[in-house]
Amino acid sequence: MRHWTNPSHARADRLVSRQEIVRSDLCIGCGSCAAQMRWDRDGFLKPDDRAEPPAEQFANQCPFSPAAANEDQIAAERFPSASAADPRIGRFEAAYVGHALEDPFRRNGSSGGLTSWVAAELLRTGAVDGVAHVAPAEPQKDGRFFGYRISHSLDELSRGAKSRYYPVELTSVLREIRQVPGRYAVVGVPCFIKAIHLLRRVDPVIRERVTHTLGLFCGHMKSAAMVESFALQLGADIRRVRAIDYRIKDERRPANWYRAHLELDDGSSAAQDWWHLADGDWGAGFLQNPACDWCDDVVGETADVSFGDAWVEPYSSDGRGTNVMVVRSKQLADMVERARSDGRLELRPVDADFIAQTQAAGLRHRRDGLAYRLTWRGRGVTPRKRVQPSAALPLRRKLVYRMRHAIARWSHRMFRLARGLRAPAIYTVWARSMLRLYQSLTWSSGRLGRMLDRVMPQPER
Ligand SMILES: Cc1cc2nc3c(=O)[nH]c(=O)nc-3n(C[C@H](O)[C@H](O)[C@H](O)COP(=O)(O)OP(=O)(O)OC[C@H]3O[C@@H](n4cnc5c(N)ncnc54)[C@H](O)[C@@H]3O)c2cc1C
Repeated sequence: MRHWTNPSHARADRLVSRQEIVRSDLCIGCGSCAAQMRWDRDGFLKPDDRAEPPAEQFANQCPFSPAAANEDQIAAERFPSASAADPRIGRFEAAYVGHALEDPFRRNGSSGGLTSWVAAELLRTGAVDGVAHVAPAEPQKDGRFFGYRISHSLDELSRGAKSRYYPVELTSVLREIRQVPGRYAVVGVPCFIKAIHLLRRVDPVIRERVTHTLGLFCGHMKSAAMVESFALQLGADIRRVRAIDYRIKDERRPANWYRAHLELDDGSSAAQDWWHLADGDWGAGFLQNPACDWCDDVVGETADVSFGDAWVEPYSSDGRGTNVMVVRSKQLADMVERARSDGRLELRPVDADFIAQTQAAGLRHRRDGLAYRLTWRGRGVTPRKRVQPSAALPLRRKLVYRMRHAIARWSHRMFRLARGLRAPAIYTVWARSMLRLYQSLTWSSGRLGRMLDRVMPQPER
């Protein structure tokens, strides 16, 4: 089995406190260590408890704590006899590209609907009593557009389909799981699923009751300001926004042409393609959670099964949406194979290279990019990663990573400034200039690109 963990990274050296993790911009806001959460000034959720959790417990349970078990260690414990392993996608039993055939999963889903299908099948067969996932909330009630909740029926589950690039946290569902006996599945991005498994190691109730984990591949998480930014660019007052769909589906258009859609309080709506928005280039990192720059898991390596978008042709042009799926638990591998042979799922087995190809940009950012970022991380807690610090990159690539990091940081400040002065143009004009510079650097178009081509070789993108 290929393994990419540096053994020197296998042990903890020092216990870090929650306050240090938060101050070091390493708190992703999952809420696994907290009783309650609050918004910070940048539109992220942060622990709001007065007291620090016990030091050792916190250090072993926070997904960004350098003392906690890493993804390789958790996956080795959970899937010791996995039939395959790959340094990019972890241990696994089977991998596929495809979609749900049973209606309405694909139609309702952001991609091929497989996440909701697997969650529904677990509920339908009685393997679990509830599924913790993210559904629309009432923004008028507590200012949140989305939140985790536990669905107990197929109907409830289906109303929570689709990807939410919005801050969410686990406190309320963990409370409910602790209070109400039963078996639960949890859907989440990789760091949230890691948090659940770290919690399962220290909390016997969670260990017994969270029986299944469904991971979502993840590029990075956005702040709540992204909704505000969409609203201001679509000419809507954020106070009038009642619902948001980050990726409204249109079968006539390629799946990777994301289109944001807002519903307003008078029943009207507004929509725009992401690439027409000043901050709509996902790769540039606008309004990104700072902790995401210190993560090395793209595909949810600790989850029983994880799902992403098949961002390769011909699938990315198919507006109906197509998933890639990596199955790690034997129980789920059997369940999926049965459904495939019963004609309920359209799936083609693929290898690790195929999965990695669909996430090429994300993997580069979390391997080469992370290795480079680790060489210049200065302040606060030093994250303990499976990637070794290295600056062995072409100059132009280094500039791309520097620029993404700067955009991620400065976008929060510029947004705050624009909001404070009630001058949205401060943000949008700045964002458009940054985007032009970033795209010239990355894609070599325009005068700057041609100049860069002369002085630096064009790196792989
Ligand atoms: C922040 C974020 C970043 C992502 N980045 C990538 C990426 O870089 N590459 C890639 O291929 N895919 C990425 N995805 C996953 C992708 O957007 C789809 O969610 C995935 O392909 C599953 O599609 P589906 O049609 O099977 O899901 P659906 O059938 O639509 O079901 C989605 C399920 O996930 C739940 N859910 C939605 N948002 C969240 C959330 N924030 N936290 C926890 N549960 C949630 C829903 O409640 C629902 O149960 C990302 C998702 C998120 C939330």
